[in-house]
Amino acid sequence: MQKIKQYCTVNQIPYHEFEYPITPKKFIDDLLKSDEELTCPYLKEGRCSIYPVRPTICRMWGAVESMPCSFGCEIEGRLMKNSEAHGLLDMLK
Ligand code: SF4
Repeated sequence: MQKIKQYCTVNQIPYHEFEYPITPKKFIDDLLKSDEELTCPYLKEGRCSIYPVRPTICRMWGAVESMPCSFGCEIEGRLMKNSEAHGLLDMLK
């Protein structure tokens, strides 16, 4: 979270609190209270505005069995099993 905050400050990007590294908690909380479309506050013009410091969960897309790349890209080797991904996230808590 500190890295995202610093990156936002340096790059003059509005900061949104994420429950790092797992969920963008405030975003999800706000979303549940409204009927707004699901869009991450850091998604700007189709790109991640905090890409170098994006949360771990974002880095897992395309690398975990239950999170395949939505564009159909595949990785060399094998996808991470869900249990391995949960173990990794638990280690980062
Ligand atoms: S990768 Fe996507 S979901 Fe994750 S912070 Fe960036 S814009 Fe948001």
